[in-house]
Amino acid sequence: MPDEPATAVELEDQEPIEASEPAGLDPEAQERRSAALAQVRKFGDPVLRSPASPVSEFDRTLAGEVERMVSIMRDGIGVGLAATQLGRLRRVLVFQVGADAPATVMVNPEVEWSSDELIMAEEGCLSLPGVIVDVERPLHVRVQARDAGGGAFLVEASGLEARVIQHEIDHLDGVLILDRTTREQRRGALRALREGESYAPPRPDEGDDA
Ligand code: ZN
Repeated sequence: MPDEPATAVELEDQEPIEASEPAGLDPEAQERRSAALAQVRKFGDPVLRSPASPVSEFDRTLAGEVERMVSIMRDGIGVGLAATQLGRLRRVLVFQVGADAPATVMVNPEVEWSSDELIMAEEGCLSLPGVIVDVERPLHVRVQARDAGGGAFLVEASGLEARVIQHEIDHLDGVLILDRTTREQRRGALRALREGESYAPPRPDEGDDA
């Protein structure tokens, strides 16, 4: 899989992860989305800065939590969600890259290997409404995890999928995209969050009316 030509070009065309703003939702879907997003903890909530604990019981409580996470991710039209974002400090994440893809559940995920090859792309976060920043991450990763039943499995991911997994694992460590971008973008994003505005990285190539 690391040899697959997954790729800068493809990534640049992707919507920023987690927080893409879907167009053309019918009112009912919009309402479901708002209800889902209302359950996601937002920047300023200390839980987002707290490390999550490994899961040791693969029981019905976990199965219920996972089910809830998947439905909030789907209703919220997100591509990934970490338990931390729902205020649960447990090492559980879900992701779904592509509308038709099945949701993948990762319990106690560990990055076993990541490529030296890095790639920069825009990222958003359901916990940082209106904010998009540039984040550089390894292009390929190999991650070991357990499913909701406790079964071990390995995922080799590239491109957007690798990016989403790394973003969600960051949440489990109390790390946000603000910590992974430039100082300038962090400053701009923090100001926007404080003032309830939106933020996107400045693009010198866009518009020449300076
Ligand atoms: Zn996020």
